Amino acid sequence: MVSERADIAVIGAGAAGVMAAIAAGRAAMEAGAGLRIVALDGAKTLGAKVLVAGGGRCNVTHHHVDERAYAGSSRHSIRNVLGRFDVPRTIAFFREIGVELKQEDTGKLFPTTDRARTVLDALLSEARRVGVELWHPWRVASVRAFDGGFEVQREVAEACDEVRSLVARRVILATGGKALPKSGSDGQGYSIAKSLGHTMTPRIFPALVPLTTPEGHFLRELSGVSVPAEVIVRGAGAKAIASFTNSVLLTHFGLSGPAILDASRYLADARHADPQAALVLNFAPGSAPGDLDQTLVSAKGPGIARWLAESLVFHARVPGHTNRGLPERLSRALCEHAKVDPSAPVQSLTRAQRTAIVSAVTSLAVPITGDRGFTHAEVTAGGVPLAEVRLDAMESRATPGVHLCGEICDVDGRIGGFNFQWAWSSGHIAGSAAARSLIAGT
Ligand SMILES: Cc1cc2nc3c(=O)[nH]c(=O)nc-3n(C[C@H](O)[C@H](O)[C@H](O)COP(=O)(O)OP(=O)(O)OC[C@H]3O[C@@H](n4cnc5c(N)ncnc54)[C@H](O)[C@@H]3O)c2cc1C
Repeated sequence: MVSERADIAVIGAGAAGVMAAIAAGRAAMEAGAGLRIVALDGAKTLGAKVLVAGGGRCNVTHHHVDERAYAGSSRHSIRNVLGRFDVPRTIAFFREIGVELKQEDTGKLFPTTDRARTVLDALLSEARRVGVELWHPWRVASVRAFDGGFEVQREVAEACDEVRSLVARRVILATGGKALPKSGSDGQGYSIAKSLGHTMTPRIFPALVPLTTPEGHFLRELSGVSVPAEVIVRGAGAKAIASFTNSVLLTHFGLSGPAILDASRYLADARHADPQAALVLNFAPGSAPGDLDQTLVSAKGPGIARWLAESLVFHARVPGHTNRGLPERLSRALCEHAKVDPSAPVQSLTRAQRTAIVSAVTSLAVPITGDRGFTHAEVTAGGVPLAEVRLDAMESRATPGVHLCGEICDVDGRIGGFNFQWAWSSGHIAGSAAARSLIAGT
């Protein structure tokens, strides 16, 4: 069997793994240490997720990142990691490798080229510049710890003379989670982490995922409508657990768009605790039901549906939308749902009709049958708890010498560049620490 030796084996060359490999390579170069760093990935072509991210533009980070944008492990631990390689350092890092970032109104940062390819190419060429070897497709089946190192076994070799195992002094586990499995991130890393003494959170589920509604639900008829809304997750006793104001996209299967994606993991969590937990939409975001009721009492108009489409004004502003008027098709559908004739003059509405309209517009409970699963999810909720990792080095407490970073950890962020920021921060810590421990001979 052909076997080779390396100082550091990085398993998974996605965002976190490539960042870890670069950080390790840079630390070795600075120290003149000449470490052999090999990044292994099962994918034929590298960087699938970077390329699809942000609609092909790659939303690299957000101008304001803090732990409140994340869920999973304790927020204190997440802050600890983010603070060690923060947004200014991330922006500086990308500038050093030739990627200028620009900030959009939403606070999201993208490459000035608006091309994800710029980000991927720069990362891979920096990895090569600092001496990282990128081996792919090279899918890892198992990692065995022995006294003094780790034996990383390849899943299958194309030919018998190909390298079947890599013996390394340090391992960085950056295999991602289960989101977008065709990219190569299919949860295999969890088995490897378990074999190295880690536990997993009891639940691993899709996050940032579109939601499905029952067949025949009236909102499905409005497929293609994009509307600003507040999406509220209500748990037991109708308590609001989480709320997100942003675009909602009505689709042929149910609901999508950033506000829905952000809410999805909180709904899944709430439903796990209480199957009655509900998703409520407010199409007049920033305005309370009482505000609309008061306005309607004195409003005049030829038809309530037209009034909602032309004269409804709400307080919250969502980028890409005005804060005035509902899409015509939606306003008609909401009137019909409220069992009010869309052409009924506003001043003719009875109190009961007004209440029904206000409820449909500002507190529409939408039945949710499920989500579209890992195939359509942007990230994974759950994974290796941060409590099992020494945060200053992202090093396994169970098996010292193994470092973990990226989505394999029990950390998931909102839409907006937060998940990549987690990958950059945790990856940088893992890679630098792995290299430094070898340089220091510890
Ligand atoms: C459609 C989509 C759009 C997104 N857009 C954004 C965005 O704009 N901004 C943002 O912040 N986040 C975005 N995300 C989330 C972001 O892409 C992930 O959080 C991030 O890529 C996680 O990085 P990672 O390196 O931990 O895992 P991954 O990127 O999943 O990389 C893991 C790598 O490990 C490899 N691998 C897995 N198992 C093995 C094995 N056994 N052996 C060898 N290799 C293995 C895989 O092939 C893969 O290359 C998006 C995600 C999706 C799916």
